[in-house]
Amino acid sequence: MIHLFFYSRRHLLNRTVLLISLLFIGSAFAQTRTRTEIRIPDILGYRTLKCDFHMHTVFSDGTVWPHIRVEEAWREGLDAISITDHIEYQPHKEDVKADHNRSFQLARGHAEALDLLLIPGGEITRRIPPGHLNVIFVQDVNILDKKDWYKAISAGVEQGGFCFFNHPGWYHSDNVSRWYEEHDRLLQDSLLHGVEVVNTRDYYPVAHQWCLDKNLTMIGTSDIHNPINLDYELHRGDHRPVTLVFAEERTPESIRDALFKRRTAVYSAGLLIGREEYLKAIFRTSIQIRVPGRAIRGKGSILLQIQNTSDIPYHLVLEEENEFISTPAKIVLSADKTVLFRVRSKADNLSGKKDFSLVYRIANLLATPETGLRVTIPVRVEFVPES
Ligand SMILES: [Zn+2]
Ligand SMILES: [Zn+2]
Repeated sequence: MIHLFFYSRRHLLNRTVLLISLLFIGSAFAQTRTRTEIRIPDILGYRTLKCDFHMHTVFSDGTVWPHIRVEEAWREGLDAISITDHIEYQPHKEDVKADHNRSFQLARGHAEALDLLLIPGGEITRRIPPGHLNVIFVQDVNILDKKDWYKAISAGVEQGGFCFFNHPGWYHSDNVSRWYEEHDRLLQDSLLHGVEVVNTRDYYPVAHQWCLDKNLTMIGTSDIHNPINLDYELHRGDHRPVTLVFAEERTPESIRDALFKRRTAVYSAGLLIGREEYLKAIFRTSIQIRVPGRAIRGKGSILLQIQNTSDIPYHLVLEEENEFISTPAKIVLSADKTVLFRVRSKADNLSGKKDFSLVYRIANLLATPETGLRVTIPVRVEFVPES
């Protein structure tokens, strides 16, 4: 009897311990969140930082609390964000009474906890011209709240702010970007430093050309107002547009420095937009070419492999036929995959190791508006004449 009692008590105790353990594990899991890194390589000695410098919260016309913006960005693998609530447009102000620094102040603690860089800023919101302009890296966002837009921008830039022209096509029914005298004035006075080449899902080729002609920094932003999952199908591999910043260090100061020196590119919906040197470096650093040890015999062939370790798929279109070897007219180097394709000899009398440059255009890498980037892919192939 005593024996049985002892066993049942122990049994009960074991069950209790198990239940408590499960509860503990359950709550530990509930605390776990995951971040999906954006795999785009560091280049040219710089860190490639993934940034979004334009978004809204309930402190203007957004629908989320600032804290959520930080959490979303961390989960999506971003390094830095700027919450840029409208200065002149605050439809929730009857319910949410605060000054223009408040969204930054509320988000800052969570950003520090998650090691996400948070950059103060605001969106000056006027009719076109001059339209909407973000000024980021200001010490006091309230400085942007002035009757005169020129004075507002000047005040922001005087505080060290970086100013860019937002969604330049959005103001017009044809969605084509237009530049005004007001922008010339800002540019001449060193008060305009960049332009959104991408805003939400829109790419502005005209604005892309301005950046090249007027030496402006290329910016791509989400301008997100809703919870990010409502506008982007993240669970299916979709992503918000980001500005890639090539910074010396992962700090706000380094990001600011890189922005002023135009060291950026824009990654949006499978497109990579930017200056040629950066796009070429990203492509080169993303791929590894594997040529098999065996030689091509006569007019035979070998299988070549190219591994793409980045998240960017590269859509290659053959630009120049090679004199000695043939390669596919189109190759898609899918993200994080290795692609296999056949290289065939055109002549039967080649012998020894030879170096070739395969000339392709990458349709989704835009160094100039709507034209794919031309790249050369070096391969060394060995030949043995047909005996
Ligand atoms: Zn706007
Ligand atoms: Zn906006």
